[in-house]
Amino acid sequence: MPDVESVDGPIPVPDDVLGHTCPGCQRPFERGDVVGTVLIGPGDDPVARRAARSHHAYDGVGVLVHWICATGQDVITAPEAEA
Ligand SMILES: [Zn+2]
Repeated sequence: MPDVESVDGPIPVPDDVLGHTCPGCQRPFERGDVVGTVLIGPGDDPVARRAARSHHAYDGVGVLVHWICATGQDVITAPEAEA
């Protein structure tokens, strides 16, 4: 499980992923859910892969999951989306 500090969020679930499956629990995202983005690695970008291998910073690929699936922490209410 990632450290809470390494998960981007929590945020209200974006409308464009409603109904998509959370990789953490295999349940669909529903309106009112609170989610976060977990960085999983460099993805298929060769430049990012080289940077990751040499322990340099890179723009990684993130996966959206329920906040509780990423952190174990229950969030009662979603914070306001940043404008
Ligand atoms: Zn989940």
